[in-house]
Amino acid sequence: MIRVVVSGAAGRMGETVCDAVEAAADLELAGRADPALGVELAEALAGADVAVDFTTPDTALENVRACLAAGVHAVVGTTGFDPDAARAAAHDARAGGGRANVFAAPNFAIGAVLLMSFAAEAARHMGAAEIVELHHERKLDAPSGTAKRTAELIREAGGDVHEPIHSVRLPGLVAHQEVILGCEGQTLTIRHDSIDRRSFMPGVLIAVRAVGDLPDPFTVGLDKLLQPVE
Ligand code: NAP
Repeated sequence: MIRVVVSGAAGRMGETVCDAVEAAADLELAGRADPALGVELAEALAGADVAVDFTTPDTALENVRACLAAGVHAVVGTTGFDPDAARAAAHDARAGGGRANVFAAPNFAIGAVLLMSFAAEAARHMGAAEIVELHHERKLDAPSGTAKRTAELIREAGGDVHEPIHSVRLPGLVAHQEVILGCEGQTLTIRHDSIDRRSFMPGVLIAVRAVGDLPDPFTVGLDKLLQPVE
């Protein structure tokens, strides 16, 4: 049984994660941390194996540090924080004898992971790309972590992502992204839509189960954990 604490447990994602953990036979919901619940993450970590963080760009790094200090593996879905600082904290903790791993993903939806992979593949053949990301109006960061990661992958594949990345914020949206690639006489549009936050839960649970066995103290991207369907 893996004992899981959810950080940001009163938020939109955090509540959905709590439900998913409670429904999983091999996981136990060991705590809910959130200012709205009056519970600090540091106090909820005692006895936990894994913490899942869906909070805010301002607090995610501090929460990662609290997990590392407590020797609790962290799965981070929060976007808009500095991953380099989190990587450095994870490596520092390991050098100091800590055993906790950190896994972060800007998007836990399988369709979004596939979109990023397809976009990088397409960019090898159609170099010019525009990214349009569309989210609900209460999202704090822009452009989205998924859009920034997609741009990195397209550029690593040799493509040219036009700036700025376009961010749309409207009520009614959840999380959506289009990559439009162009070359002479044709365009290719790749689009992913998360229409329900439950779309992220299979990926979150894969990460919860895998984070303790990762070879490195800091890993980014759900693609690192996915096996093809047999
Ligand atoms: P939300 O509804 O605003 O929830 C965030 C929650 O975290 C709030 O209840 C907030 O409390 C709480 N919080 C703030 N500081 C905290 C702390 N130090 N410790 C514990 N909890 C704290 O936001 P959301 O829509 O769930 O999104 C959360 C994050 O997940 C965002 O960064 C979003 O971009 C990201 N996200 C990622 C994915 C993915 O697949 N990786 C998918 C969807 C969303 P207060 O309201 O009192 O501040």
